[in-house]
Amino acid sequence: SSQPAGTLSGLVVAAHGRHCLVESPDGQRRICHPRGKKSQVVVGDHVQWQATGDEGSIERVDTRRNLFYRQDEMRTKSFAANLDQILVLIAADPEFSERQLARSLIAAEAEGIPVLIVLNKSDLQPAFDQAWDRLESYRRMGCDVLPLRLKGQTAAGSEAGLVELQQRLTGRTTLVLGPSGVGKSTLVNRLVPQAKALTGEISRALNSGKHTTTSTTWYWVDEARSTALIDSPGFQEFGLNHIEPMQLAHLMPDLRATLGNCRFYNCTHLHEPGCAVLAHVQKTGDDPASADPLAIGENRYRIYGELFAELSDRRQY
Ligand code: GDP
Ligand code: ZN
Repeated sequence: SSQPAGTLSGLVVAAHGRHCLVESPDGQRRICHPRGKKSQVVVGDHVQWQATGDEGSIERVDTRRNLFYRQDEMRTKSFAANLDQILVLIAADPEFSERQLARSLIAAEAEGIPVLIVLNKSDLQPAFDQAWDRLESYRRMGCDVLPLRLKGQTAAGSEAGLVELQQRLTGRTTLVLGPSGVGKSTLVNRLVPQAKALTGEISRALNSGKHTTTSTTWYWVDEARSTALIDSPGFQEFGLNHIEPMQLAHLMPDLRATLGNCRFYNCTHLHEPGCAVLAHVQKTGDDPASADPLAIGENRYRIYGELFAELSDRRQY
């Protein structure tokens, strides 16, 4: 990429407000600030920066391959860019929210990147088998779903699934998401033993001595710096406000498979006669393994309706 004279390239490894930490190709890190008031820099951004004393000024953000938004209360803001995949960590306990899982998949689909669903705590029975069954619609639409056990003893040993998981992480940049209690810190600390120390260092640097706020952070998993994890503490839900309601069914592979045969070209798939999506929605009591290869789970269809309503009456701020 072309570099304006006097600028250096770097990777944003942490960001907190208008302070961010930029890592140079040699591994050195320095606090930088975006130059323009309006420019937003997020973890994973490749930037061109210039030294200003001990700190730096970000002159330019390179074109992003993708950009993800988080949603806190009423606000939507970007928080990570240039990802290769998203790892959604859920567990046998606490019970996962299918709505949150669906949102993650839709956000990833909108940016064209894969999701890896990891179901942790395979030692907890019968909760694990029940959770695994709840993921049937997701496996059927082609999602990669991995079982994992980080703690808990069984005859087979104390960890299971970790090698398969590591294989899928190698050479990629992965955003790790999960509601609290699923084992996300256990996993990050297992893969990046220095994570705790690094987090402390980063929050001290970015908050300049004030109370520590944990921010979205980039971790290298290997010394060669080819495998990376991005952890975003407290992350709950993806912001989907940039998605048009009429686009939604196209971002849900099970619904998408039935599209094209609706009577009305502008069908919302909510109530229209001759709707091809509605024709494939399973009813309570239907055999889940019914003959319909295009069957849409009732839960999936309910989530579609909820998200459609949410995106339709979103307000612009
Ligand atoms: P976080 O809130 O997602 O960061 O979750 P933690 O990493 O703090 O883990 C929450 C709890 O789950 C801790 O008590 C862990 O020891 C426990 N835990 C993590 N992995 C497993 C597992 O595979 N099986 C069982 N039974 N417990 C686990
Ligand atoms: Zn329709």
